[in-house]
Amino acid sequence: MSGADTTPLARELAARIARDGPISVAAYIDACLQHPEHGYYRRQAAIGTAADFITAPEISQVFGEIIGLWCAVVWQQLGSPARVRLVELGPGRGTLMGDALRASRLVPAFRAALRVELVESSTTLEAAQRAALANEAVPLTWSRELAPGGEPAIVVANEFLDTLAVEQWVFRGGTWRTRCIDCTAGGALSFADGRPPLCADVPAGLAAPAEGSIFETRGAAFATLTAKLAAVGMPVAGLFIDYGHASPGYGDTLQAVSKHGYADPLARPGEADLTAQVDFAGFAAAVRGAGLVCDGPVPQAEFLGRLGVLERGSRLMAANPGQAAAIEAAIARLMAPVGMGTRFQAIGIRSPDLAPLPALTPVDTAHRTP
Ligand code: SAH
Repeated sequence: MSGADTTPLARELAARIARDGPISVAAYIDACLQHPEHGYYRRQAAIGTAADFITAPEISQVFGEIIGLWCAVVWQQLGSPARVRLVELGPGRGTLMGDALRASRLVPAFRAALRVELVESSTTLEAAQRAALANEAVPLTWSRELAPGGEPAIVVANEFLDTLAVEQWVFRGGTWRTRCIDCTAGGALSFADGRPPLCADVPAGLAAPAEGSIFETRGAAFATLTAKLAAVGMPVAGLFIDYGHASPGYGDTLQAVSKHGYADPLARPGEADLTAQVDFAGFAAAVRGAGLVCDGPVPQAEFLGRLGVLERGSRLMAANPGQAAAIEAAIARLMAPVGMGTRFQAIGIRSPDLAPLPALTPVDTAHRTP
């Protein structure tokens, strides 16, 4: 029943599949999120308490402030250049950047060097970002794509990697097949096995798959992104925070989120956010393939803790006693050991000649002697 005539995009996809055959999960996600007319990110303001999901910068201002200070330290590591590009990928409602720029006032020379670029595919969210940052004195520009450049650049992105379309394979009859979306004569969308791919990209060392095992990667999307990251600046440093797993494994993590609840990913294409966990090992491999180096990943709680989130929170509570309980609860949510604190990971990327980035060295290797 899923998808049958439920949305304009469901009808369009059913017609496309009837004409051309089943489409891959990645192509389905791409259509659901980025379709010029019906795509989820093209149409609606998805993020916030009244919308479909809430993100770390919307939970507490401390999140963006800490990231702003992280950027200031990285700028110092870059040699305190007179000009630096600060690029945010997928800036949502502009909250993280607003908080980061407020914190940048603590390091005036960094603030004076900043040229901020917001890379956003949604016109609705770009408008929200322009409104949120309207009174900002730092120069701001918007674009749809990460543009190459020759000067030092710092890139930040929260919950951006998970929006990149994931490819799924299913192990059936001794071979990996592309997992696809097919449609019945009645127009209902359903999962189906596609033809075997040339290469399923399953890392060596993973246990043998069972019948029906599903493997997910963002190989193509990560390769495209990391090639752009390698060209964005000289040198370049970046921070990506997202939910996912540090080591690869089998499993179907595709999920649809609508109105703060989980939904059937095929039920209302274009009207729910579709995401899948980020495979950080796969991302790190793509980063290395592009000639860059990775630091981390480390759990979000570890990253924020090392950068003084609790101290910053205490100061904020002291300055706003009436809101102390709410501030404390918000920070506890970001740090929750069974929740965002561990489900989200922070990973750094950098040009090979830069020193390791702040707060991103994994615990188990931090003090290891050679
Ligand atoms: N970073 C924000 C928003 C996360 S949601 C926060 O933490 O609140 C994902 C963001 O990425 C949205 O702003 C969405 O419109 C944007 N986005 C999704 N796909 C994109 C693409 N291909 N290029 C640029 N931005 C994209």
